[in-house]
Amino acid sequence: MTEWTIGTIKKIKYWTKTLFSIILNAKTNTFIPGQFTKLALKINGKKICRAYSYINCPQNKNHEFYISTITNGKLSPFLYSLKEDDYIMISKNATGVFTLNNIKSCENLWMLSTGTGIGPYLSILQDGNCFNMFKKIILIHSVRYINDHSYLYLVNNIKQKYSNKFIFRTIVTRDSFKNNVTLKGYIPDLIKRGIIEKKIGIKINNDSHIMLCGNPNMIRETISILEIDKNLSKNLKDKNGNITSEQYW
Ligand SMILES: Cc1cc2nc3c(=O)[nH]c(=O)nc-3n(C[C@H](O)[C@H](O)[C@H](O)COP(=O)(O)OP(=O)(O)OC[C@H]3O[C@@H](n4cnc5c(N)ncnc54)[C@H](O)[C@@H]3O)c2cc1C
Repeated sequence: MTEWTIGTIKKIKYWTKTLFSIILNAKTNTFIPGQFTKLALKINGKKICRAYSYINCPQNKNHEFYISTITNGKLSPFLYSLKEDDYIMISKNATGVFTLNNIKSCENLWMLSTGTGIGPYLSILQDGNCFNMFKKIILIHSVRYINDHSYLYLVNNIKQKYSNKFIFRTIVTRDSFKNNVTLKGYIPDLIKRGIIEKKIGIKINNDSHIMLCGNPNMIRETISILEIDKNLSKNLKDKNGNITSEQYW
């Protein structure tokens, strides 16, 4: 049974017409970076709740969630309409195994994400312990349009702090643009063609761990390529592997 508490909206950041972040204060129990909680609202007399990943680290008591509004979604459009000082229900306890606790230390950690799936990595990176576990951490964020890269300021802060250990690369799938740092295409395809490894200058091999978060199609297709082309396997409770994933739908 979920134990609920009431949070107060401190701020809403509107990034685009569909992307926004909620910052709230609530008396919740602590969490492990990478975990998610549940947010809920009473809509037409019915409590509607959904899972959202913490993007702040546990030390920061301003709880932040990066959210995409889904057309005709039962909850997300209502979250988008919230205002400062509004109340929201939040689960007291976080949950989930998309954390570093279940990952063996190795040379390189790859964090692959689509859309709001960058969220758990922002929590893990801000916490900072990950930089003791891996030689390099590579964060890849794929979005539809260049303006959907909402958290560049935060990623740049992390880059400044851990410059020799942290690599960040943006990808867009739909924008027609040209610059030297952003790749165009789909993560599975860019991995299959060796483009991501070439641009980063690091190989994905048995001394890598690959985390995947966001779009279920990206996750499914990428895992299949990693298994077949790279001979890597999923990280399971009873058997260490190189792939850990979290699907958002
Ligand atoms: C572990 C976990 C963590 C999550 N963390 C986040 C998070 O941090 N931020 C976030 O925005 N969402 C997150 N989600 C998704 C979130 O829980 C909701 O599913 C989402 O907000 C849609 O809810 P809704 O009630 O508006 O839509 P619903 O009425 O429930 O409609 C759901 C349908 O919308 C589609 N859908 C759901 N999410 C997306 C998406 N991001 N892009 C495109 N289509 C989608 C799917 O087809 C799904 O079947 C997470 C999901 C899980 C399982």
